[in-house]
Amino acid sequence: MTEEHPDLHEGDKTGKWRDYLKQKCRKQLAELSRDYPHTRSLYIDYRDVEKWGKDGLALADEIVENPGKVMEDIYDAVIGNELVKPQDGKPPKAINIRFTGLRKKITLRELRHDDVNRFVSVDAICIRASEVRPRISEAIFRCPAGHFTVKQQKYGKFVEPDICATDGCNFKRLELMPKRSKFINQQTLRAGDRNEGLRPGQQQQTIDVVVLDDICDTLFPGDRATLNGIVRSTQRVVKGEKSTIFDLYLELSSIEIEERDFAEVVISEESERKIKEIAKSGNPLNQIALSIAPSIYGHLDIKQGIALQMFGGVSSTNSDGTVNRAEIHILIISDPGMAKTKLIKYAARISPRGIFVTAVSTSGPGLIGVTVRDEDGRWAIEAGALPLADKGVAAIDEIDKADKDLIANILGVMEDGEVRITKAGQYRILPARDSLILAGNPKYERFDKYADLVDQINLPPALLSRIDLFYIMVDSPDPAEDEKRSKHVLQNRYVAECRAAGKLDRVSEEEQTAIAPAIPQDLLRQYIAYAKHIMPIMNPQVREHLTKHYLTLRGLTQPNQASPATMRQQEALVRLAEASARMRLSPEVTLKDAEIAVTLFDNCMKAVATDPKTGNIDLGKVGQGQSQQKINMLGAMREIIQNNPKCSQALLLAKMAERSFTNEHSILAALNGAEHAGDIIDRGQNGHYEWAGK
Ligand SMILES: [Zn+2]
Repeated sequence: MTEEHPDLHEGDKTGKWRDYLKQKCRKQLAELSRDYPHTRSLYIDYRDVEKWGKDGLALADEIVENPGKVMEDIYDAVIGNELVKPQDGKPPKAINIRFTGLRKKITLRELRHDDVNRFVSVDAICIRASEVRPRISEAIFRCPAGHFTVKQQKYGKFVEPDICATDGCNFKRLELMPKRSKFINQQTLRAGDRNEGLRPGQQQQTIDVVVLDDICDTLFPGDRATLNGIVRSTQRVVKGEKSTIFDLYLELSSIEIEERDFAEVVISEESERKIKEIAKSGNPLNQIALSIAPSIYGHLDIKQGIALQMFGGVSSTNSDGTVNRAEIHILIISDPGMAKTKLIKYAARISPRGIFVTAVSTSGPGLIGVTVRDEDGRWAIEAGALPLADKGVAAIDEIDKADKDLIANILGVMEDGEVRITKAGQYRILPARDSLILAGNPKYERFDKYADLVDQINLPPALLSRIDLFYIMVDSPDPAEDEKRSKHVLQNRYVAECRAAGKLDRVSEEEQTAIAPAIPQDLLRQYIAYAKHIMPIMNPQVREHLTKHYLTLRGLTQPNQASPATMRQQEALVRLAEASARMRLSPEVTLKDAEIAVTLFDNCMKAVATDPKTGNIDLGKVGQGQSQQKINMLGAMREIIQNNPKCSQALLLAKMAERSFTNEHSILAALNGAEHAGDIIDRGQNGHYEWAGK
């Protein structure tokens, strides 16, 4: 932008702006005249100014270089030419001049002292938002002799006059007159860079944002938006002493909220072409799945699940106003040493806005959010990791060790897509439409397929019932597979060693391709962001197919049992099918997508919910009602306890074994459950049981 602009003389500028406003903003000025003071901001679009006549470029440039001055010029043009004529006939007391539509955006990371007093545009995420409070903008003081002194107030410290402003009056103790002073609504936000998303361990660049008047309370923590404003600096004060450090802050002029999801992910034309190629390739699901954590051998089923989760279903609203959840939730229960952590970390890393946390080391406030008092003593809401990952994938490891509060909060995310922050009378709901991928270990070290999953993991049934896809990673030796796994791991390790030593030339091209992901991470991220805008619709065959599947599942239910096959599973299938259609960039969910969904879902169910005795799928095993096995077990226990007064635990186990219930874990789990339910009472002395139930 080194083009020469015609020089404008100072006096011309108000005139130029008058001409501009009259030509380009007539509608807005009429609205202001009609609705003032309810409407009191005039929005000027940078791109419109730039295109305006021969002076446009010069005027637009000045917005960036000297915004404070331009705001005064425009204000003078409005007032001096009576461009806004309020209904009451009096000239407007205050009109905010706000700028939008800047061409160039910068990141918070790039902000420097040179930018002070310039107009900038940043893509940011709101991390914290304070309450809106009136701030004094023009303070009126009175001296004992009755003279008035006016002091304009800016952000930060309250400025008091040293002495009465009236000539010849030397009074120093002046009294503030709140009723005569002018106030303006003010809010302070903290914004962070959002371009890179939030990565574990990455220091996020943040800036305080001062919001004035009618645009207060439009941004909430977790919101992503373009913030346009003037960079200001203020001297840091440490314990009352002025420091040599200056802090930058943004005086907000306008907010532009992007309607598109993941608008922060930039997709080049070249990427778009490649994405379309993969989508049309016939089996995008496998290509994508194989690109997830390629250094981890096998587990294609889990990787397929993760792939569908990243693309997600379609969020929609029913005619009664209820919302259909789009997020696919996954639970992985793994024997130790099965790389589950590595796998879910990878999922979080690829997904735009993904986060990874460990339930043990993360505090509730860190995950959900917190209310804090800011420097001015106002309450502010600060978003935690889950609301910041809104619409992304949130991976939570060691979920089995999460405390009760954390589980309650996670349930809120799964059920309503939001978190609730309450503290000191403050109550705020923040959106957190995260797709959760939870991982944990079984209670008894190793997974036992004869016991119900629900008894082997320390998680409430309410949470389990909201999981779409369950996976278990069992460590069982298999010579052929083990050899392949070992070779795969060592091959990856070897290439990594060569990379570390700067000797990649020792790796053959063949070997390089063998371990490279089919789709590079960056491209996959762009693929997901690109596909999220597709809203596929089910065709009639899909609906028919899913109904048939639902009826089959219902048919597996024992007639006298509460049906464990619920509409929840059907909804899970719809989400999975929608995700599959998105991967293909298809506006229509086809039979193929429905089949993929059903296959994936059934495989999960077979692995975790098959009754080893009957071979039937029993959803009771995953916390949907009670499993048939447990019902049989409870029946046996009841008979044994009723027939053996003062039945000890040893006797109970022995008698159960006679009836071929030999799995101690599951018997004890069932016993525990029955005690909680009040069906069995443990009398304590020598551990004898009494039947108290029906
Ligand atoms: Zn005085």
